[in-house]
Amino acid sequence: MKTEQSYPRLDPRLAAAVEPTPVMDPQWIAFNDDLAQQLEIPSAHRATDDGLQIFSGNRTPDWAQPHALAYAGHQFANYVPQLGDGRAVLLTEVIGTDGVRYDIQLKGSGRTPYSRGGDGRSPLGPVLREYLVSEAMHQLGVPTTRALAAVATGEMVQREEALPGAILTRVAASHLRVGTAQYVLAFKERELLQKFADYVIERHYPQCAETDAPYLALLAAVVDKQAALIAQWMSLGFIHGVMNTDNMTLSGETIDYGPCAFMEAYDPATVFSFIDRRGRYAYQNQPAIGTWNLARFAETLLPLIASDRDDAESAIAKATAAVENFQQVYEGYYWQRMTAKLGLTPEAADAKSLTQDYLDLMQQHQVDFTLAFRFLADTDSNRLAELFENTQAWQDWHQRWTRAVKAEHSSMTDAQNQLKQTNPAYIPRNHLVEAAIQQAMEDGSLKLFNQLNRVLQTPFVEQDDAEEFLQPATPEQAVPRTFC
Ligand code: AMP
Ligand code: MG
Ligand code: MG
Repeated sequence: MKTEQSYPRLDPRLAAAVEPTPVMDPQWIAFNDDLAQQLEIPSAHRATDDGLQIFSGNRTPDWAQPHALAYAGHQFANYVPQLGDGRAVLLTEVIGTDGVRYDIQLKGSGRTPYSRGGDGRSPLGPVLREYLVSEAMHQLGVPTTRALAAVATGEMVQREEALPGAILTRVAASHLRVGTAQYVLAFKERELLQKFADYVIERHYPQCAETDAPYLALLAAVVDKQAALIAQWMSLGFIHGVMNTDNMTLSGETIDYGPCAFMEAYDPATVFSFIDRRGRYAYQNQPAIGTWNLARFAETLLPLIASDRDDAESAIAKATAAVENFQQVYEGYYWQRMTAKLGLTPEAADAKSLTQDYLDLMQQHQVDFTLAFRFLADTDSNRLAELFENTQAWQDWHQRWTRAVKAEHSSMTDAQNQLKQTNPAYIPRNHLVEAAIQQAMEDGSLKLFNQLNRVLQTPFVEQDDAEEFLQPATPEQAVPRTFC
């Protein structure tokens, strides 16, 4: 295992050394062997008794130097100057077998200097949710933080009611966020800001160092990564739910699976998060919020962009243009992803109008977004026709689509094979995630959690015995609200 702390050494004001707080009676929930292998975690420290002590925070192994990281952030557009890892610690950075540097973080491991009011702990529910959904996102091909381990603490945490506690071990390309840059900016020290930006460039965007204007290039690179990421979320019906600037990574990985959920019946205004009362983070708003957050990131870089032998005014103009470019870059990625879901390319005749018309049909008929695309890959169209109650409007659309696909592919079979790789059969449906959590809390059983986790490992392969994981919630099963 190649471990080495770099970020906590950058400046003492950006991180605080802090040990996890031990827990009473740790028990395994899950361990991710594939990921452990990729990080070369010593085999004695995997799903073993030793591993349990480490991933519960009861024992700090010699490869870890735990630190909480400081950050700030706009939460629902309000600036909070001091956030930070209030219930998490970075155990170490590690170089994976792929040569990439990763953070290994315990989340729910006790209070830190950044805890403010909180208890530093996490209930079991959010740990199970993050484990399931982040791993599902990875298998869906979405850049994301990952789950290495989950353990129950054997302790209760007090929320509105007493809930069983748990700790998640999270792995990320880094935990640097737009909010981290905001925190650094607030010191108003050019040297510190430059050190930070250079660190981000070296760790995530080394190609920017080669350009004439590295900090403007960094901004453009983050804009591009986030545009690609959000386009991918949109193409899967993923609603993050809490796109605060402290929950937007500079690496372009999805982070913070608090109130997230996947849309079922297509409706662009869909919101799950209970606290998102005005729908700021609704499905259709995600690209616009992405731009807003990136404008906050651009503000942090202005002092550095200005010194690329520029005056302040032209720096603002350049940064503004880079942020405004999000829309165009995003649309490129969005149409690429969405037309691929029909087996087409954005350039194919009728591709964009076919996509938009299909979305409109879904909305009219309240059809499940995931299945409407997945069933296009069926060799007969029975399941698909049923979703749309075989209406004339659907039949007309289907004829148009078949014509467009035939013009682009050697055969329908060829197109359908491609569609099966593009449109997942399984997503972590909110009612299933909630049912798995309820079962774990009420019966202490991980049966559903394990089943769901297994099915979501191969989301593009339809499995014979998994119909209940394929179908959207019935009205009785539906869980339209999430809590973080
Ligand atoms: P989040 O909503 O998870 O993005 O967290 C926002 C901020 O609240 C972060 O600074 C967290 O560390 C902090 N926080 C959330 N829950 C707790 C908790 N139970 N104890 C201490 N800090 C917390
Ligand atoms: Mg967060
Ligand atoms: Mg959260």
